[in-house]
Amino acid sequence: MTNYDYDVAVIGSGPGGYVAAIRASQLNLKTVIIEEDKLGGVCLNIGCIPSKAIIHQAEIFRNTPRLEAMGISVDKTGFSYESVFKASRKAADSLSKGIAYLLKKNGVEVINGRGSLKSEHEISIGEEKVISARAIILATGSRPRELKGFEFDGETVLSSNEALMLKKIPPRTLILGAGAIGCEFAHILNAFGSEVVLVEMMDRILPLEDREITNVLKRSFTKRGIQIHTSTKAVSLRKSSEGAEVTLENEKGETSEITADKILVVTGRVPNIENLGLEQFNIETEYGYVKTGPYYQTSVESIYAIGDLTPTPLLAHVASKEGEIAVEHIAGIPSKISKVDFLSVPGAVYCEPQLAGFGLTEEKAVERNISFKKSLFPYRGTGKAVAIGEPDGMVKILLDPETEEIIGGHIVGAQATELIHQLLLAKTKGLTPHDVTDMIHAHPTLSEAVMECAKQANGSAIHI
Ligand code: FAD
Repeated sequence: MTNYDYDVAVIGSGPGGYVAAIRASQLNLKTVIIEEDKLGGVCLNIGCIPSKAIIHQAEIFRNTPRLEAMGISVDKTGFSYESVFKASRKAADSLSKGIAYLLKKNGVEVINGRGSLKSEHEISIGEEKVISARAIILATGSRPRELKGFEFDGETVLSSNEALMLKKIPPRTLILGAGAIGCEFAHILNAFGSEVVLVEMMDRILPLEDREITNVLKRSFTKRGIQIHTSTKAVSLRKSSEGAEVTLENEKGETSEITADKILVVTGRVPNIENLGLEQFNIETEYGYVKTGPYYQTSVESIYAIGDLTPTPLLAHVASKEGEIAVEHIAGIPSKISKVDFLSVPGAVYCEPQLAGFGLTEEKAVERNISFKKSLFPYRGTGKAVAIGEPDGMVKILLDPETEEIIGGHIVGAQATELIHQLLLAKTKGLTPHDVTDMIHAHPTLSEAVMECAKQANGSAIHI
């Protein structure tokens, strides 16, 4: 078949799928996107956006003592968490509508329905409709992983989906899993008054991030009354009218009991590969994720896979970049890269303080026997951090001692998720800390902490 209905057909409209579809249309490819639920996927509807809308309000709520310090008394008696929930839905809905607008503006056709592969160039949508395309991009994303013995019931044992839909804050919450999502929920629930217990199987919270950096968040969480149990797993659950009783077991085999009203299980996600019709082509998978080669092509030349469906970091910006790379390959545009370099992917955790980082952590560098030079600069050394009452934080840069190349950048503190891009741009363009310090930074800014850390790599920081 050479006369296809479309040049590109995308299944799934999350940040992978919709970005791929818009980019394809920009490149004059006739494009269709098939979505069975709301446009925008997990990110816009039940992930990044509503969670950040809630976090923003949590910060306002938590910061009322600052108003009180100015003599303004705040009466919280009229507060209802439902208004926070509603604002988060409003943000999600408005951005989902925004995606509909962008798709339309770019001439992308949208078909509502469930898509599955019928052949190498055909997609069945529901029972009746079949469309054909020269290239197909699978972008069906992922969903919360269930934990054995703690299966989701939507009442007591919740996934992140249900936790984002809560209209009331539970008095006591047990969170299983202290990755980015678990830590962000610990921050939210604690901010709005829940007693939070955070349990992690690994020996620290945010086990993939740099230890020295995560220690700052751990201290802040502990100070706020969040109970943290690391090297601990939840082994059994008994539900009763009192809530749920959970037995925890630490690495020494010692057990303890926790009673909670809600248990939030955020121990991972599973890719949505079921009923996609992959079996007929023997498309390779790895731990359930669709394996891809250069340009995100699967073992079938006309079929690509991007985003959470593939074994790459489960992040919206990774999904989007993968979509662009795949589409530019389909359009025949020579690309500088055929895959995202994981060492250049920023990770961001939106707690108070915020964390952000990329590249090697100190632990990973040691584990891989990679020699490095380390530079640290504390936020309290910058005028802006002190002026705005945010002195807790630090910037950390890991460098190749020979070439001065940046091999890791990590920040904890206010606005860390914005500041990280200065270091990441330097790394991406092969700049050294000297280049960062050559640029005059405005004063007073938090960016000066990044500049001072870069200076400190050569012992020339001024404010330390
Ligand atoms: P998804 O966003 O999962 O979208 C897939 C889409 O495909 C869905 O709309 C689904 O309905 C549709 N679909 C599935 N199967 C079919 C089918 N057969 N036919 C038609 N449609 C189908 N990432 C960040 O980068 N930053 C954050 O701050 C962040 N916060 C998060 C907070 C939470 C609580 C969660 C759960 C996730 C968060 N993430 C964050 C992760 C981010 O949401 C995902 O990495 C991202 O959404 C993945 O994009 P995707 O396009 O691969 O798939």
